[in-house]
Amino acid sequence: MSREVLEALLAARVVPALAELQAYVPDQETVPVRLDANEAPALLPTLSVEERALWDRTLSEVEPARYPDVRARALRRAIAHRGGVDPEGLVIGCGSDEVIAILLAALARPVSGPPKIVIPTPTFVMYRISARVHGYEVCEVPLDARWDLDRPAMLAALERERPAVVFLATPNNPTSGAYAYESVAAIAEAAARIDPPSLVVVDEAYLAFRQAGADPWAGRTGLELLARHANVVVLRTLSKIGLAALRVGYAVAHPLLARELEKARLPYDLPAHSQVAATLALGALAPAIDRHVAAIGRERARVVAALQSRSEVECDAERTHANFAWVRADGAADLAAGLKQKGVLVRTFKAYPDRFRVSFGSEVENARFLAALGELR
Ligand code: PMP
Repeated sequence: MSREVLEALLAARVVPALAELQAYVPDQETVPVRLDANEAPALLPTLSVEERALWDRTLSEVEPARYPDVRARALRRAIAHRGGVDPEGLVIGCGSDEVIAILLAALARPVSGPPKIVIPTPTFVMYRISARVHGYEVCEVPLDARWDLDRPAMLAALERERPAVVFLATPNNPTSGAYAYESVAAIAEAAARIDPPSLVVVDEAYLAFRQAGADPWAGRTGLELLARHANVVVLRTLSKIGLAALRVGYAVAHPLLARELEKARLPYDLPAHSQVAATLALGALAPAIDRHVAAIGRERARVVAALQSRSEVECDAERTHANFAWVRADGAADLAAGLKQKGVLVRTFKAYPDRFRVSFGSEVENARFLAALGELR
């Protein structure tokens, strides 16, 4: 009986989008070399004795009996200082995943029908999942043959759909390429002109790696677009530079928008350990983070060159700007299964059967990946 009640409740009250979604469950089997989640390789072994002592001491001093600082003031100052941004424009969340959810929760007001998002595809899956959970319709615009934005199609979708939000990840996940700056700027400008305007989220989760190579944006970032268009939000995260366990992501927005978004954020979302560790990583340990990013950049050059020297796989160096490669290989799912058997985890995509995504790990991890690949193909 009680199960029937629950079934009736679920059928009538759960948002319909959940029926079409799956809970996000990454492959968590024990595989020695995990290159499937765009994380950085282990950070702690790269710290000097002094850096390690500072890390240990700082974390050990967190008092567990007290709630964390609601406004994350020290971390806010550190992010603002390092990024050269207004601390009042920051919305810091438990990973940029949470910031995406906050943005969508805040902008879900129906405007002549349900709210919509426009996204290029393929792109980061959480835009779609979070949007569906929050009652949005999702308009997907395929990337062009070079995995760049189809600018006319994006502009047409903007005019037609009048979305609340457009998400542009640059470099993009899973394709690793940076979108043409001019396309992102044109979309931001067009989104400001429509009535009511759309929000354009420029997701720079992989910014550090774009800048670790020949930056196709020539040093410009989403912050320049935000300075020109208040309907732009820049999204960043510490997850890719060696700090994924902390779950710290943030939006840089106009302070007026940040003030509204703060109302939709859960008060104690960012744990105290994460706040102190992230503050340290952006301050006294910033040189260690910079070294780590530079090392990943060097590994990227090495792995991409190795991939390019093989005829059975293809990897476009010109369009690899993140900490992972988007590799073409016939039968990618079988290849990934073979790699897993040899202890190396990469990511495959049902919609792209001839592609896999592989993060750049440590020198040892990358050597194992390349050796396993060589044995299989
Ligand atoms: N944006 C993009 C483009 C991503 O690829 C990811 C992580 N896969 C995120 C945001 C989320 O990062 P986090 O929640 O760890 O900050």
